[in-house]
Amino acid sequence: MAEDDVDLFVIGGGSGGVRAARIAAGHGARVMVAEEYRMGGTCVIRGCVPKKLLAYASHIRHEIDDAAGFGWTIPAASFDWSTLIANKDEEIARLEAIYTANVEKAGARIVKSRAVFEDARTLRLDDGKTVRAKYILIATGGAPNHGRAIPGIEHVISSNEAFHLPDLPKRILIQGGGYIALEFACIFAGLGSDVTLVYRGDNILRGFDDDVRTHVRAEMEKRGITILTGCTVDRIDSHGGEYTSHLSSGSSIASDKVMFAIGRHPNVANLGLEKAGVAIDPASGGIAVDGFSRTSAPNIYAIGDVTHRINLTPVAIREGHAFADTVFGKRPVEVDRDDIPTAVFSQPQVGTVGLTEAQARARYAVVDIYRTTFRPLKATLSGSESRYLMKLVVDGTTDRVVGCHIVGPDAAELTQVVAIAVRMKATKADFDATMALHPTSAEELVTMRTPTARYVREAAE
Ligand code: FAD
Ligand code: NDP
Repeated sequence: MAEDDVDLFVIGGGSGGVRAARIAAGHGARVMVAEEYRMGGTCVIRGCVPKKLLAYASHIRHEIDDAAGFGWTIPAASFDWSTLIANKDEEIARLEAIYTANVEKAGARIVKSRAVFEDARTLRLDDGKTVRAKYILIATGGAPNHGRAIPGIEHVISSNEAFHLPDLPKRILIQGGGYIALEFACIFAGLGSDVTLVYRGDNILRGFDDDVRTHVRAEMEKRGITILTGCTVDRIDSHGGEYTSHLSSGSSIASDKVMFAIGRHPNVANLGLEKAGVAIDPASGGIAVDGFSRTSAPNIYAIGDVTHRINLTPVAIREGHAFADTVFGKRPVEVDRDDIPTAVFSQPQVGTVGLTEAQARARYAVVDIYRTTFRPLKATLSGSESRYLMKLVVDGTTDRVVGCHIVGPDAAELTQVVAIAVRMKATKADFDATMALHPTSAEELVTMRTPTARYVREAAE
């Protein structure tokens, strides 16, 4: 039998693949990583990081708007998109170099090439060379999905292109009601674009707590974003750099750009999975895996977005780490997917951990809701009409806080910290016993004394 060239071949140098490669190399494995585009993957190159940089840029508009009430006179501010994009690109290139260096420092080898399966132990690279590996990790991530092929679909951009537009569009139509659609709608609106969001359902952010959905929608509308629900884009006509999007509702919208953010598909196409005996989960379209990220082929594992489970960077990283510890560290680790905090970097932000009210009411016999909305102290002088939402969902039988939902400035930062308490199974009494930190907005989390609602499920007959 032929000798293996490496102990581990990682396909994809993104969040999950990089972590797995570094940890496996640290355990002494001979590791090779193939990356067909840029080291760092979606999160670093065209996801979380550049998105957050653009969100910071956009948020500055709101700070400028808030300044006058505090005595500041700011001459008419102007914004230069190309400076922002150039600075962002420079930072992304710096991070890419760090990711590359860290993988190499750990002792793994990077090949800048697409890798596809020849069989369950062999990968083929762009130059035709093959590499034989004892274990293979598929960490190929995902890509934007444009849905059905409507007339004019070729004019539509995704988040990938949004990071590299030559100019800030004066008007942009964005289809979608999830993370990317909301984040980019708020980015463009803050930078001065006229934004229309088109969403097929009743309300944006399906799957989030209903109060969050209502609140964030109202806040986005206060900031001038037009949100059209119950319709889809059915056709796009182009006329000399301008587009008309025809909606299922019968109306049409003119814009300078049309962006779709209607989900992402796992990168499984043309990988040669069938040659390797790796099965796809028919429900999700991602690679089917068990709790240890094992695929249907005994020596092949898959992690991150390509498995289409919870498509978040920290989850991909945790899965990559757990895989490397399990296979090369002789320490089986299964990733715990309970109480994963998540944020939508809209403006204002959404932060959420644990169960929504609806999920809690389906699970527990008694559910107490503590909910408040308020104008933060800063708004008294800035004059901003923006309101915070804070909501705790409590299992009324055990008093455990099973969900926390925040909409407001820094909701993401707050939620990361609250997630520790939720994960430690803190009770509402623990929250109440925690001294408030004054004056903050977050103190509301420990000062909501009286439930705003209590739901008691009738005992089954
Ligand atoms: P990726 O990071 O996508 O890496 C996969 C890599 O594999 C890519 O570099 C790709 O080029 C490479 N590749 C694919 N096929 C091959 C092949 N055959 N051979 C060689 N290389 C290959 N998550 C958060 O937690 N917070 C956020 O704020 C956030 N913001 C986001 C914003 C946007 C616009 C997007 C699109 C995503 C965002 N995400 C965010 C999601 C996050 O980026 C992903 O969950 C994460 O990057 C998944 O990591 P991964 O390792 O599974 O895949
Ligand atoms: P999401 O799944 O968040 O949202 C997709 C949106 O598109 C939903 O509103 C969905 O509607 C709608 N949609 C789906 N199919 C169609 C269709 N055929 N026609 C019209 N609308 C449609 O996907 P995103 O693309 O926004 O982001 C992909 C993933 O990346 C996220 O789920 C998340 O895991 C990750 N991400 C995380 C971020 C973060 O952590 N801050 C930021 C960005 C991305 P419906 O609800 O009705 O199905």
